[in-house]
Amino acid sequence: MVSGNKISALIVAAGNGSRVGGTIPKQFQPISGKPLLRHSYEAFAAHPAIRSIFVVIGAGQEEWASDSLSGLLTPIFVTGGTTRRESVRNGLAAMAADPPDLVLIHDAARPFLSAKVIDALIAALEHHAGAVPALPIVDSLARGGEFMGETVEREGLLRIQTPQAFRFDAIWAAHQSWDITVEASDDARMLMQNGGQVAIVEGDENLGKYTFAGDFLEQADIMRTGTGFDVHRLVEGEELWLCGVKIDHTHGLSGHSDADVAIHALTDAILGAAALGDIGDHFPPSDPKWRGASSDQFLKYAMQLAAEKGYALCNADVTIICEAPKIGPHRAAMRTRLAAILNVDIDKISVKATTTEMLGFTGRKEGIAAQAIATLQQTGRI
Ligand code: MG
Repeated sequence: MVSGNKISALIVAAGNGSRVGGTIPKQFQPISGKPLLRHSYEAFAAHPAIRSIFVVIGAGQEEWASDSLSGLLTPIFVTGGTTRRESVRNGLAAMAADPPDLVLIHDAARPFLSAKVIDALIAALEHHAGAVPALPIVDSLARGGEFMGETVEREGLLRIQTPQAFRFDAIWAAHQSWDITVEASDDARMLMQNGGQVAIVEGDENLGKYTFAGDFLEQADIMRTGTGFDVHRLVEGEELWLCGVKIDHTHGLSGHSDADVAIHALTDAILGAAALGDIGDHFPPSDPKWRGASSDQFLKYAMQLAAEKGYALCNADVTIICEAPKIGPHRAAMRTRLAAILNVDIDKISVKATTTEMLGFTGRKEGIAAQAIATLQQTGRI
């Protein structure tokens, strides 16, 4: 890190965020419990090298901005312009009266800023007038149009993030000499146009830009868990099905469908995670249609309903509670069968067993109990 330098941050938060929807611009909307702007502001405020933080906001956004940063130390607000370039220029102009040595220009739409990125940028400015965080491109690239066009070679291409860091004099000079009839893609480009060199430091996947409404899904809605519990009576003369596997045993389970207690618990866990009611709602025991039915279809259907709501299964963990039969020898087959019904990797499915030390109805071998937990994740932006 360059010591002794006066370093300021400039957060650009002047947009109207029309792609996100809602009446409040996106930079003031909550993400992970705080306004978007507050995340990067706090990251700068917590960094020991940053001496002051300027925030460029749109005209009329003062109240939203103050509310977003309430309780934090001395935000300095600057009114932005009609373009991002103008907004940055206004911010730099506000700094120019008492200029810092270095400035980090950041977009509020990238909330998850790490000290590691800030450190790397500041270190790079020891030898260069500018520095940007960048990441390689992992998707394949093609030209667009009505149909997919020619492939664009991604090797050597980079995704440029913010903050972009500069020696203040160099970026201020670049902004002042910029031909304002042309729009700049970013500040680093403007520095380069003015003869400056921009170093590349390692970017951060967490530093992604929040652009669309879907980006604002709360974490609580992205990961969801549900539990299930079920009991069936052990009787003579019935087949024993557990986790979709038929097991040779002296007794079998009686009840609704094939009475696969483990699948019933797991079905309820999945329905629970997606807040879709319980197994009895979807497959009422009173309906003769389900008498003797294979429980596979309950589980498959529950997962299908969850998928229609936008969820995929992260993992499921089933515990079978009984004195007999021994579950261990069947565990691999059970996991394989559940994974096949749910159409997921076997690694996502756990089956365990325990006894109740001969206590209670399971201890007396009157019945088998099962409990399950399932975690779903919202598909889409994950
Ligand atoms: Mg049941």
